[in-house]
Amino acid sequence: MAELPNIENLYSTLKSLRVVRHCFSNFLDSLSEGSKCDKEDGNETANQKSLNNLRMHVRELEQNIHNLTSSSINPPGGPNVMSNIDVLSLDPSPDKLNLYHQLLDCYTWIDKVSSYSGMVHSICSGSYLKRSSMPAIRKRHVPIIYDANVVPQTVDIHIQNIKSRFPDMTLNVVRPLGSNAVLQVTLGRVLKAVVFFRGLLIEGVVVRAYNEPHTDEDGKVDLYRPSQYKVFQKVTDNANAAMLHFFTPGSVDITVRSFFTWLNSFSNLFTEVCKKCNYHVRHNYPPTWREFRTLQAFHEECRP
Ligand SMILES: [Zn+2]
Repeated sequence: MAELPNIENLYSTLKSLRVVRHCFSNFLDSLSEGSKCDKEDGNETANQKSLNNLRMHVRELEQNIHNLTSSSINPPGGPNVMSNIDVLSLDPSPDKLNLYHQLLDCYTWIDKVSSYSGMVHSICSGSYLKRSSMPAIRKRHVPIIYDANVVPQTVDIHIQNIKSRFPDMTLNVVRPLGSNAVLQVTLGRVLKAVVFFRGLLIEGVVVRAYNEPHTDEDGKVDLYRPSQYKVFQKVTDNANAAMLHFFTPGSVDITVRSFFTWLNSFSNLFTEVCKKCNYHVRHNYPPTWREFRTLQAFHEECRP
């Protein structure tokens, strides 16, 4: 059991402390009245007297503190292992105790966020938001053919195949931008389209009406001007969606053939009824959508 502190020593120490504080106040007062010191006669000035007095009482205080600590009071032993949050939990004030629980909840929440973000990162790093299924192909160790880097002769061969496959379709190849082909397509007497390639990769499609020219005022093939008719603007949007849908890296034949098969199905754009509602016209539009697999016609609103 720890020994109780000597009350007498404690009392005398506190008394010495009070005296020191009093002497120190006197010393500061005498310093602030410096002009009075100059008039002081004798060997010692008032400042020196106060300072000597203070020194004496400080020594006395030190002696009392030494007696007190050596006899009874032991400093607390061992390192302080409590963290700041533990100290906060010991605070008896009810409003601060609430703060302690909120802080614990916050730490738990941050731990969960860190854990979940690590899981999401591992999931997302395994999927690629690209126009292709390249990761799956890489897993099967199938070499990827970079369809954009092919010679123009290869592109011409594929276009010839399309020509022979779809007799209703008239194809005219031009190369206004170097080696990359631009295909001017005329489908029956229904529509015209401009399909531009980068190598064998279809980069974009613009569909226009049969009476709209492929070329602009300067006689150059027009790659970007949309049709003035809403019907063909919708078909253009759907054709670009089909272009992305049919894109299969490493299978150039399938990509090009599938897309032109789908585009060829618009030969009955104004004659085919919608497979769902059996009407030709709905909201002033013919069936402008063709299913990718079955090529069945649907209105935009009737799409399955
Ligand atoms: Zn319909």
